[in-house]
Amino acid sequence: MSEYEYDLFVIGAGSGGVRASRMSSSLGAKVAIAEDLHLGGTCVNVGCVPKKLMVYASHYHEDFDEAAGFGWTVGPRAHNWAKLIDAKNKEIARLNGIYGTLLQNAGVELFNGRATVTGPHEVEVNGRRITAERILVAVGGWPSVPDIPGKEHVITSNEFFYLDDLPKRVIVVGGGYIAVELAGIFNGLGASVTQLYRGSLFLRGFDEDIRHFVAGEVRKKGIDLQFEKNIASVEKKADGSLAATLEDGSVMEADTILYATGRSPKTRNLGLEEAGVKLTKSGAIIVNDDYQTSVPSIYALGDVIDRVALTPVAIGEGMVFAHNTYGKGGRKMSYRDIPTAVFSQPPIGTVGLTEDQARKEYGEVDIYRSEFRPMKHTMSGSDERSLMKLIVDRASDRVVGLHMVGPEAGEITQGFGVAMKAGATKADFDATVGIHPTSAEEFVTMREPVPQAQAAE
Ligand code: NDP
Repeated sequence: MSEYEYDLFVIGAGSGGVRASRMSSSLGAKVAIAEDLHLGGTCVNVGCVPKKLMVYASHYHEDFDEAAGFGWTVGPRAHNWAKLIDAKNKEIARLNGIYGTLLQNAGVELFNGRATVTGPHEVEVNGRRITAERILVAVGGWPSVPDIPGKEHVITSNEFFYLDDLPKRVIVVGGGYIAVELAGIFNGLGASVTQLYRGSLFLRGFDEDIRHFVAGEVRKKGIDLQFEKNIASVEKKADGSLAATLEDGSVMEADTILYATGRSPKTRNLGLEEAGVKLTKSGAIIVNDDYQTSVPSIYALGDVIDRVALTPVAIGEGMVFAHNTYGKGGRKMSYRDIPTAVFSQPPIGTVGLTEDQARKEYGEVDIYRSEFRPMKHTMSGSDERSLMKLIVDRASDRVVGLHMVGPEAGEITQGFGVAMKAGATKADFDATVGIHPTSAEEFVTMREPVPQAQAAE
């Protein structure tokens, strides 16, 4: 008999925590999990899932417009925000239920409440002290807003998903995934959107070509995208509207100001530091390759460890943790060639290195690039364009970077992600027969590299 009540106590039932607990339980561990909000964490409740549903919703306005080019008469249309939020909430509630069932079926005991760490083998939840051989912290992250005067008047992605009405005028602050995606949703549903980014070009970390291209496309859709602009303070006016004073002294008015300026690990008041768990300056939990913290019985994974804040990564980490702790072991999470998509409009798909990273890592690289009007838009009346780009290490012929902007970028990139993981060369891409007519076939039909002088520009 174990001296502990549980083999594993997981704090946080988001993507990582749920997968780690289910897998550990199926490998024979006695597992409990605590969650003080809704099951499924950020992704299911205020992230990936509702975001994608709302991207679909917002895209219809273009679909209606474009249908005319194909002979359709589309009558007057209007969007009902409250109906969308209601339908979205119902779907999320359904998913919350599924997560509950998954945990139950896996034999994981659920505690509805906030758990804190009270010792290397002890947590407290709902006033009860519980012992466990191991504790896994998977509490995720939380939006962070810079400390500006008037910050109490702005919203974050958390509130975005529950707004009562679609605001008429919106300012979105930030230039990362969330800012770009939510600005696109607001814009598609009919709000007048200004997006402010503090640097000279948004989407830092993505391929530079892609960043320029998306900036152009997003502007064509009507978003007022402004770089090197940031808000210094926000004031609420008597009529409830907001006045943002920018760092350059200019003033902008809006009904809603949404900050998407990053997310911080949710490690405060969890008892971690008291238990001796070492954190980074930004509050992320420091772990080794087995997700073990500085306290050997306490583990952590997902957004709270601040490696790669993506749901599938948290799930992958959960699998590695479970197998290495309760299974045969020997697994290691690979953080290389993680495919990812930004559900901007049009969306971005990317896997592998950017051109800059590839030049630094490999020196001699060939760039293949294709920019075109997707077939649909030859009749739709839309001026949206697509971009596809391959980066090839000249010495090995391996494709080390693949990037695209265009419809279904996420779907397309997922498949190519497998090829990249398998080490596909440009010759393998060339030997693959295209599917015609698709946009994706461009990736296997790009024959001539961009001339060197142009590629280096
Ligand atoms: P990011 O870290 O991606 O972006 C934050 C943005 O805010 C950056 O443009 C940053 O600028 C800017 N910023 C930071 N601090 C300030 C400040 N004080 N004033 C003004 N601007 C500031 O965070 P997100 O919130 O967009 O997303 C968090 C993470 O969630 C992502 O990194 C991603 O891993 C994940 N995610 C993934 C999605 C997907 O897979 N589709 C969707 C949504 C989120 P700078 O570049 O100068 O630092």
